[in-house]
Amino acid sequence: MLERYSRQILFDPIGEKGQEALSQKHVLIIGAGALGTGNAEILARAGVGQITIADRDYVEESNLQRQQLYTEQHALNHVPKAIAAKNRLQEINSSVEIDAHIMDVTPEDMEQLLNGVDLIIDATDNFDIRFMINDVAEKHRIPWIYGGCVSSYGLSYTIIPGKTPCLNCLLQTIPLGGATCDTVGVIAPAVHMVVAYQTAEALKVLTDNHDSLRHKLVYFDLWKNEQSSIDVSQMKQDDCASCGQHPTYPYLSYHNQTKTTVLCGRDTVQIRPPQKVNRNLDELVHFLNRKGGKVEHNPFLVSYSYNDNRMVFFKDGRVLIHGISDIKEAKKLYHQILG
Ligand SMILES: [Zn+2]
Repeated sequence: MLERYSRQILFDPIGEKGQEALSQKHVLIIGAGALGTGNAEILARAGVGQITIADRDYVEESNLQRQQLYTEQHALNHVPKAIAAKNRLQEINSSVEIDAHIMDVTPEDMEQLLNGVDLIIDATDNFDIRFMINDVAEKHRIPWIYGGCVSSYGLSYTIIPGKTPCLNCLLQTIPLGGATCDTVGVIAPAVHMVVAYQTAEALKVLTDNHDSLRHKLVYFDLWKNEQSSIDVSQMKQDDCASCGQHPTYPYLSYHNQTKTTVLCGRDTVQIRPPQKVNRNLDELVHFLNRKGGKVEHNPFLVSYSYNDNRMVFFKDGRVLIHGISDIKEAKKLYHQILG
């Protein structure tokens, strides 16, 4: 067993003690896209004991350029990313316990996923979820590592509740980037750079090398050959709603209502039901087959092509409607199909 991790054990700040610590740790990764797959692979190879990974999407061909755990077969079969990632990670390191969740993470989900978690990795592509992670991390005092990546640039910042300013503290002052829907693409090296920053910090947190943690928000652009970091240590706000003296955790107040979201740069709208349901996919396939159009399915989802649109139905009740970026139109189409 030690042979497997011998090079990491030879690295003095980790050593046998650090390796043993890693095997006892549990990391929650939110998102299994480019950043999520990169983080998950490195942490699984490093011998982290348990990894929980949550993602709402399935593998598509356009993911393969940078989402390193996925293959053409995954894309062809529309395998949910959480499942494809779990299977591949288990091949890479069978001793790591991997929990996969196909879900659009809500605050309630997040609090359930947190059980026994030592560190959260942000591998999402939007600030709605990042601020939710920020609140839940502050509330439960769990370190988390922010990462963002668009085009050829990226940034990362490590948040230790009770010590560093939180993401909400920085919001007023720092242009956090990637806040808008990106339509400018992304190159894989930029992803890997952010993953390197995130996983290096993760190894420090998980092996109790807190003194080595980076205290600055780091930013780079690989195409413009820029690299800089911002000292944010003085930016902690006493009245911050997430980490201040009287926190209210504003991003955790979730209302049970149908939530419709336009997915970033995807020409896709997601409709999420007010409560999680257990959709019977066999019945749905039967129903859609009678309507005409092209129906494909796997154990996790049903894909339905109808005129110029494609709808993907998940077990938890969510629907992704591709080929549309207007919420009203998406809802109309949804009701047209399902009544
Ligand atoms: Zn704060």
